[in-house]
Amino acid sequence: MSRIKDAVLRYAPYWIQDAAIGWYNSRLYRQRHAGRYGEMRAYFSEWELSAAAELAAESSKRLEEFLAYVRERSPWYSKISAGGLSEFPLLEKVSLLQELPRISTITEQEGVVSLTGGTTGASMKVIYTHEDMQERFALLDHFRESHGYRLGEKVAWFSGKSLATQRDVDRGRCYRDDRRNSIRFFSTFLINRRNFDSYWDALQAFRPRFIVGFPSSVLDIAMVARERGLVADWKVEAMFPTAETVLPVHREVIGEVFGCRLVDQYASSEGAPFILECAKGRLHIHPLTGVFEVLDGNGDAAREGEMVVTSFTTHGTPLVRYRVGDRLRLAAHDDTCGCGWNFPLVDWIDGRTSDFVYSHETGRINLGNLSNCTKDVDGILSFQVVQDVEDEITVRVVGDRRFDTNQADRFLAALRQRTGQGMRIRFEQVDEIPREASGKFRFVKNSIASRVG
Ligand SMILES: [Zn+2]
Repeated sequence: MSRIKDAVLRYAPYWIQDAAIGWYNSRLYRQRHAGRYGEMRAYFSEWELSAAAELAAESSKRLEEFLAYVRERSPWYSKISAGGLSEFPLLEKVSLLQELPRISTITEQEGVVSLTGGTTGASMKVIYTHEDMQERFALLDHFRESHGYRLGEKVAWFSGKSLATQRDVDRGRCYRDDRRNSIRFFSTFLINRRNFDSYWDALQAFRPRFIVGFPSSVLDIAMVARERGLVADWKVEAMFPTAETVLPVHREVIGEVFGCRLVDQYASSEGAPFILECAKGRLHIHPLTGVFEVLDGNGDAAREGEMVVTSFTTHGTPLVRYRVGDRLRLAAHDDTCGCGWNFPLVDWIDGRTSDFVYSHETGRINLGNLSNCTKDVDGILSFQVVQDVEDEITVRVVGDRRFDTNQADRFLAALRQRTGQGMRIRFEQVDEIPREASGKFRFVKNSIASRVG
């Protein structure tokens, strides 16, 4: 299938490519919206405004059913005969990598395979049942609708797809159109200053009401637009970011250029339960999608720490107390939100646990803290910090003409403040920072994270 797809994308005329993408998407769409989908859409909207105690009871009921299923069907868990969640061991990434057939309850042929690029570079794989896939899409669609999205409205999609060649981009074809479903898929591999006009013109012509995808890709376009004093002359309702940590800079610049709010959601592609942003801009755990535990360094329950997840939509490859590799802080007990949801509140999610710089003097400097270094600095379009040893970091910056030595000094001083005096900082101004093979952009590349974290 994928070889045929590649050939079509490379050699066929654009109208055939567009039709093929439309056909392929409609097929996926039918799979995801069949079976359990309708029932679960109703379920999530029915529970939307329920009281906290009722939600907690329903969540416990679903947990019990899920654990019973797992004990019965997964060979990996067959020894755990009774008891609740605390009887289950933590599930490590390496186990998921090496013991997939024993953990899973179905074969790859019986389900839907999902691949994710792990932080270690090894690709992770999980198998979803069709029912679970349908439930996940039911929740996502329900969530997006609560932020104004209706099926069939125009969407600009920016995910890790290499859909176009430089020659295509030069002809103004940096995208492929799924006309049946009103989606314009933009290639995220060729977004740079040289190709800016091609992307900007294609967006202007399409006038999407929603944007979905990597925030860093949309940021790259928005940065250049802002530098040139351009703003969208139509209204984008909302952007739904995927796959990457959303930083304040994303919200600010994308919001300024496209006039939209970023509405964040957390759910890893391994199948973690969901954390959703509400109408008031706060994050809530959705208790009917799974259980989030927060553990401190000793493995005890805490308000802030490592996130361990049990997901109700992982009957294929069960995730029970899975160490997904992210951190979060729960909101204070008496904290409330006026949005109407009675779902537990979260203060923040700290992306991937390895996305930090480590300093002898100041400890972990997380992504949000690093990105704040750019706050009072003009002209930074993008930056990346690389750390391979404890006492040195390399900082790469892509700047525009406002980024002079003065601004560079300000940026470095802000960094220095966070790393302490002992850190060697190697500064490089570059034209472009390459993305990962997956198409994602990494602000921090830290190869010593597992040793010092
Ligand atoms: Zn809220």
